Order: sequence, then C-alpha cells, then structure tokens
Amino acid sequence: MYNFFIDKSNIKNGICFISGSDYNHLKNVLRMQTGDEILVSCEGVSNLCVIDKIEDDVAYAKIIAEDYNDTNLPVKIYLFQGLPKSDKMEFIIQKAVELGITGIVPVEMNRCVVKLDDKKKKNKQSRWQAIAESAAKQSKRNSVPEVYDVMNYKSAVDFAKNLDVFMVPYENKDGMISTVSALSEIKKGSSVGILIGPEGGFEDSEIDYAVDNGGKTVSLGKRILRTETAAVTAVGMCMLYAEIKLNGEEE
Ligand code: SAH
Repeated sequence: MYNFFIDKSNIKNGICFISGSDYNHLKNVLRMQTGDEILVSCEGVSNLCVIDKIEDDVAYAKIIAEDYNDTNLPVKIYLFQGLPKSDKMEFIIQKAVELGITGIVPVEMNRCVVKLDDKKKKNKQSRWQAIAESAAKQSKRNSVPEVYDVMNYKSAVDFAKNLDVFMVPYENKDGMISTVSALSEIKKGSSVGILIGPEGGFEDSEIDYAVDNGGKTVSLGKRILRTETAAVTAVGMCMLYAEIKLNGEEE
C-alpha cells in the first residue's frame, strides 16, 4: 500500500490533507481514485486511510485505523559512516533505512578518499535524504530517517558519545565476545551509535579518540569486510537483536 508522509498540521478531525508533490504523485502518477486505501504517516505513526475526495490541488483521506502496522524498531540506531567512494553512500543509506535505522551521519575521516567542498556536501545531503525517503516508502517505514549534514570526526564522536551504546566495528579487533557484550547493553527504548570506517579503515588516533569517548570496539568476524558490507552487517545485527530480544519487553 502506498505510504505518504505528512506534517501534523495537515491532519484535522481525522482527515489528512495531501497536497504539493504528494498530491501530484497520488493523482497523476498513481492515478488514485476516491475509495482507494493509502497509508498516511505522521511523526512515526501510520494511519490506514481511505481517499474521500480529490480536488484541484488537495486530496482528502479519512483515517480508518490509527497507529496501523508499527514498523519502528524498539531502539533508535544511528549509523556514523566514514565517507565511502563513488555512490556507495547511496547503497548504504538505502540498506540502512530498510533495516530500520533512525539516522545516518556521513563522517569525514582521515583515510577518506573523497573530499567534498561545502556546495557538494549540501547537494549530496539533499540527494541522500531523498534516497532515505524513497527507501522508507518502499520498506513501509512509519517515518523517514534523517540523513544529517556531513560531520567532521570530532563532531560525529561528540554526537555518538551521548547515545546509550556507542559501538565501533574495528577491523583489528579479535573475537566476538566484545560484540556480544556490546549488544547485550542495548535495552528497549535506548539509542545505539555504530561508527564505521571508510575503505582505508580507521587511523589509530581515531580509534583512540572514539574509545576515550565511550566507544566500544567490536568485531564483525574474522574476515575484512568492505565498508558497505560492514555497515549493513552491523545495522542488521542490531536490528535482529532488537527484534528478537527486545520486542514485547517492557521499557
Ligand atoms: N583497509 C582496512 C579495512 C577497512 S574496512 C584493512 O585492509 O584492514 C572498512 C571498515 O569496515 C572498517 O574501518 C571497520 O569499521 C569495518 N570493518 C570491516 N571489517 C570488519 C571486521 N571484520 N570487524 C569489524 N569491523 C570491520
């Protein structure tokens, strides 16, 4: 079922107003008619709606079931991703959104090959946000994850250190005990940061800085994964842990 994301101000007395590009999409691309069912999501909650009326520049959809099929994870996962080469960031964002991420922070790191000037950073951020939105629709998320502006390493670690659990998958870390112990710290309703190095990996000073700020280095197995594989694996691992261990638990 098609999912539209709207602001709270566009819902009144059980009726959702769909306007702008969403209206255009609904009417001219999807060619929807009155009586068709859609999902309308607002602030992380999806409502099952039926289209009531389609006017010249707005469609009205009546809510028939509130809080319908909640697809949110019981934890908030943030991916701090060292800027990868070419269009790999797009792949990573798409997959992370499908897996249930809350936010993605592109991070400049010492071994990043890509260097973006301010204008490129802005353009990339809007493109990445659009990719997050379309992946959220495709995977029937109730909310669109945020792609943050590109951050330098220090700002990214400052952000991550304030989350409840801060995991640093590190290619030189041995053994999975650290990984199991970091996962077991994840509680229902908590926030989790995952910091992934770029293709060239972390510099020692970067690992030291993350660890000094509460980062827990973890292994993702004995093989070296490409940065995009590591990102998808780490987010997938947290997603499964949250779905299996935490769903149904009290906060
Ligand atoms: N160039 C490095 C590999 C970097 S891989 C080398 O050859 O050693 C890119 C990133 O993916 C790493 O910085 C790390 O965050 C993550 N990663 C890859 N394999 C991993 C593993 N086995 N365990 C934990 N993290 C891993």
